[in-house]
Amino acid sequence: MTKTERTYLDWNATAPLSAAARVAVLAALDTVGNPSSVHGEGRALRMLVEAARRDVAALVHAAPAHVIFTSGATEAANLVLTPDYRMGRTPLAIGHLYHSEIEHPAIREGGRFSRDKLTSIPVTPAGLVDLAALETLLVGHDKAKGLPMVAVMLVNNETGIVQPVKSAAEIVHRHGGLFVVDAVQAAGRIPVDIEALDADFLILSSHKLGGPKGAGALVSRGEVLMPVPLIRGGGQEKGHRSGTENPAALAGFAAAARAAAADFADRNARIGGLRDTLEAGMRMATNDVIIHGADIERVANTSFFSLPGLKSETGQIAFDLEGIALSAGSACSSGKVGQSHVLTAMGFDAALGALRVSLGSGSTQADVDCFLAAFSRVVSRRRAA
Ligand code: PLP
Repeated sequence: MTKTERTYLDWNATAPLSAAARVAVLAALDTVGNPSSVHGEGRALRMLVEAARRDVAALVHAAPAHVIFTSGATEAANLVLTPDYRMGRTPLAIGHLYHSEIEHPAIREGGRFSRDKLTSIPVTPAGLVDLAALETLLVGHDKAKGLPMVAVMLVNNETGIVQPVKSAAEIVHRHGGLFVVDAVQAAGRIPVDIEALDADFLILSSHKLGGPKGAGALVSRGEVLMPVPLIRGGGQEKGHRSGTENPAALAGFAAAARAAAADFADRNARIGGLRDTLEAGMRMATNDVIIHGADIERVANTSFFSLPGLKSETGQIAFDLEGIALSAGSACSSGKVGQSHVLTAMGFDAALGALRVSLGSGSTQADVDCFLAAFSRVVSRRRAA
């Protein structure tokens, strides 16, 4: 099958806006009112925001009252990652943030912690957070300086590898710490249940699910122990995040969350089938392709691979010229391709880099065919060179 249009294989960077989210966004944009106003118009918008809260909460089996809407996962991370907490009205200090070495920069930058209060937890060559190293770090933590906080992502955005979050939670809680889980790449791809994961806080982003960009959430387990707000003002979101809510973005986020929760198993089985066909095709085309994390539990949509002799920058451009949008895993905001900190952490020759194909609900067999045809041409050109 041939296609003339471009092939989008970069769903981990952002998912195309889903049709349902688009309808919800447009309807909310056309609704007059401020959700904080007491008149009828305001109350209608409030109902819309609260319905969105229920949908987002349902995706991660949390209580709606425990969802704080933010402008995205990065803001949620900056809200939760702070040395300053309150237990009710009493201040409570967090002494140090330990985060896995493979976290997204939104976490690795450490939010409101100063650099001297950040320590990264190594990962094993298989790409899993090293639980023994986490244990050792927490044994050495000086509680006199405040409680430890630990952040481990549920699914890595580059490799798609599922992290042993539940086991990490057990270690963190045994040492009296707070546990933050970035579930941005996990939601809609594997079941996410805040209780079952034993996380104190979860971070979500709308645009990875097919919702609009610029919306996300910090979901908490309870309401007693909460971070000091990052954005202060009119006291929206129960004072945790001031500023007039963006009902259109939240309605779109909610529509995406509902779709992500619906036909979950069928959708992911179909996507996994496409990914497996794609990887089998790459292996048929060349026997030296290295697929990172192939032997370990991954989400169904991601394939992260290296081709000896092909730099990720060159590969990304080559595929782009072939009409295929994929990623080198770690694109800096400038658009330059940086060295993958995830590969470095896994002990792989990161200078060479890797390419990431990520699929989603709209991906088709024709997309995979297009990719494999382009892959063969890229491999042949590399051989000729
Ligand atoms: N965490 C992970 C794992 C991500 O993949 C991303 C986005 O790339 C973020 C956080 C940041 O999300 P947002 O764009 O909503 O700030």
